[in-house]
Amino acid sequence: MAEVKAERVGIMGGTFDPIHYGHLVAAEAAREAFSLERIIFVPAGIPPHKVQEEVTPARHRYLMTLLAIMSNPYFEISRVDMERGGVTYTVDTLADLEKELPPNTVIYFITGADAILEILSWKSPDQVLSMADFIAVTRPGYDLERLSKALGPFYLKFQEQIHILEVPPVGISSTDLRCRLREGRSVRYLLPETVVTYIDNKGLYGNG
Ligand code: ATP
Ligand code: MG
Repeated sequence: MAEVKAERVGIMGGTFDPIHYGHLVAAEAAREAFSLERIIFVPAGIPPHKVQEEVTPARHRYLMTLLAIMSNPYFEISRVDMERGGVTYTVDTLADLEKELPPNTVIYFITGADAILEILSWKSPDQVLSMADFIAVTRPGYDLERLSKALGPFYLKFQEQIHILEVPPVGISSTDLRCRLREGRSVRYLLPETVVTYIDNKGLYGNG
C-alpha cells in the first residue's frame, strides 16, 4: 500500500476581536515558511487572560474571522473552542483538533511573540508542547530575544520544537482597533474591508 504522506497543518488560535492584518500576515508567512498545507483559524471561547474583560460574542468573532480568511484557499476555520464554551485552553483546542485530523498529521501552533512569552502561564504547557510544535512569529513591541531567558528550563527542554519566524512587522492589535472604533477613528487598511463592513452593519465596538 502506498504510504500516505503526513499532512502539515498550522493552527492559529486567537480571540480575533476583531481579526486584523497582523493575524493574516503571520498565518500566511508561517504557511509559506513551513510548507503547511492549510491553516485552521480557531476563534477562542473566553480567553483565560480576558476573563475580566468584555469579549465580543463568539458568533460575531467567528463570522468576522470567516469573512477575513475566505479569499485564501489555504485558510480554514474551526468552531471547536466556541462549541466547547467557557474558558479556552490551548491544550483542549489541540486535543479536540487531534480527534478531527488524520492520525499522522504534523501540527504547528502559531503564536505571536507576546503569546509565546507567556506560555508558562498557560494550562499544562508541557502537554501542549507534546501535542504540537510552535511557530513563534515576531511582533512589533515584543522581543523574542528574551524567549530563552523568560522560559528558562522549559525553553531548554523544548527549544527544538519552538521555531522562531521573522514575519513582516505589522504594528496592529485588536485592542488598538477596538479603541479606534469606540472613538470613531479610521480603521481603514488595518483589517479587511469585509470585516469593517460587518462591524459597521452590526454596530460592534460602540460604533453604532
Ligand atoms: P488583543 O489586543 O485583544 O489581545 P491581538 O491583536 O493581540 O488582540 P489576539 O486575538 O490576541 O490579537 O492574537 C491571536 C494571536 O495572533 C496571538 O498569538 C498573537 O500574538 C498573534 N498576533 C496578533 N497580532 C499580531 C501582529 N500584529 N503580529 C504578529 N502576531 C500577532
Ligand atoms: Mg492579544
